[in-house]
Parts: sequence; C-alpha cells; structure tokens
Amino acid sequence: MSTCIFCKIIDGSIPAEIGYEDDHLIGIADLHPIAPVHKLLIPKKHIATLNDLQTEDLPLIGQMGLVASQWAKTLGLAEAGYRLVQNCNEAAGQTVFHIHLHLLGGRSFQWPPG
Ligand code: 5GP
Ligand code: ZN
Repeated sequence: MSTCIFCKIIDGSIPAEIGYEDDHLIGIADLHPIAPVHKLLIPKKHIATLNDLQTEDLPLIGQMGLVASQWAKTLGLAEAGYRLVQNCNEAAGQTVFHIHLHLLGGRSFQWPPG
C-alpha cells in the first residue's frame, strides 16, 4: 500500500476538495493555501520528482500545462494573471514527493520568487 499522500488522495482513502478530474489528472484545493486561489494539479501516475520524468511522460506533462491554463480560465484568473509552480527537491521547497503543479491566483506575486 502506498504511503504517498497524493496517491492516497487519488485512490480516495484521504479526502480532498476535488475541482478537476480526468483519466490522468486530479485537481484539488491545497490544504494550506498561500494565495486566495491555490490549487494543485496532480498526475494519477506516481512520479516522485521532476528528475524522474521519462520520455513517455511527455503527453502527461503537456496535458498538465493545458489543463492548468483551462482551469485558470474557469476560475476567472486568466485575465488578471496567475502563477504555475513546480518545486523539485529540497532546495526548491518540495515537500510532497509526487509531482504536482501549483496553480496560484487572486493576488500579485513577487519576482524573483523567494
Ligand atoms: P510542495 O511543497 O511539495 O511543492 O507542495 C506540496 C503542497 O501540498 C503544499 O502546498 C501543501 O500545503 C499541500 N498538501 C500537503 N498535504 C496535503 C493534503 O493532505 N491535502 C491537500 N489538499 N494538500 C496537501
Ligand atoms: Zn504518489
């Protein structure tokens, strides 16, 4: 049995506020939001970090980008703008080792990021 928190959300054994789902992806509200809108777009396939991506994952990564942009529009974020973030490993602040795309919106963001 998986010990991965996102795999448990995907298999339904841990609850989450689901805002998007298809055969390959699930989109949930972040448990500890850092912006008025903070969603996580997560592939159903367990991939620990961006370092573990394989050539076969190319369609999945492309789909993540497209779905994130469509979800941002649905959430009313597109015109004002929003931020997509993927953290890889400790230096970037990755805390859950199952890749995911943060969709952040509803406020302004600094650049460069902290
Ligand atoms: P990371 O730091 O790995 O880039 O992002 C992990 C994100 O997952 C964090 O923003 C954290 O708040 C969120 N998170 C951690 N555990 C849970 C959980 O059980 N449910 C949900 N919905 N989000 C979680
Ligand atoms: Zn997982």
